[in-house]
Amino acid sequence: MSYNIAIDGPAGAGKSTIAKAVAQKLQIIYVDTGAMYRAMALFMLREGVDPSDGETISGRCREADITIAYEEGGQVVYLNGENVNACLRTEEVGNMASATSAQPAVREKLVELQRVLAAKEDCVMDGRDIGTCVLPDAQVKIYLTASSEVRARRRYKELLAKGEKCDLKEIQKSIEERDYRDMHREHSPLRQAEDAVLVDSSDMTIDEVIARILELCRRRAAGRDDEEGRAADGDAPKGGA
Ligand code: C5P
Repeated sequence: MSYNIAIDGPAGAGKSTIAKAVAQKLQIIYVDTGAMYRAMALFMLREGVDPSDGETISGRCREADITIAYEEGGQVVYLNGENVNACLRTEEVGNMASATSAQPAVREKLVELQRVLAAKEDCVMDGRDIGTCVLPDAQVKIYLTASSEVRARRRYKELLAKGEKCDLKEIQKSIEERDYRDMHREHSPLRQAEDAVLVDSSDMTIDEVIARILELCRRRAAGRDDEEGRAADGDAPKGGA
């Protein structure tokens, strides 16, 4: 049986940075499921599909062949044979992904791909429904969040560093709207799994979050359950806003 760590949480909580670093420390692969939903969204955007047209999205998702490869240690997403990594991380694609990922036909297709990968490989997988739906038996489950103000500020700084023009208030609004859609959709909404440990990174550095997760992994492996981990974070409300 493979070793799987599930990390879920809202947009901009730092999941991919943290998951990548944890995977590297443990020398296992990192599976970015958001990138798969983004590839599907890119397909729909290129085809001019209306994000509110669920029927067309469900019908046409069969035409998008999405595969994953690991090249030079990183995940590469192929959409109908094309490496689309460079096209995935825009606000437009993220917002489209939030709409298309609400369709059960899209989820079925991508969840299957994710389960096959996780069964074959030890991995850290991040997303919205990994602990609740994709890998309910993952050995370690984390729900990583931060306040929407903190998440917006982080994204704002990232965009500024890339030289992109942006507005902090608009970013926060877009993050909150995406949270709302992801948490209130009918199929596999974003929520903390009952057996997940909540990590609120609002006042933590990246290194502190990584250390906390590695410590939880060690506890699990040593058979010391997550009682302490959970008690330390308390029963804070789920979600990031
Ligand atoms: O994590 P990322 O921002 O790349 O995800 C983009 C969108 O894909 C999310 O807003 C969410 O709607 C969707 N998603 C999902 N389930 C996952 C991963 C991502 O529904 N496991």
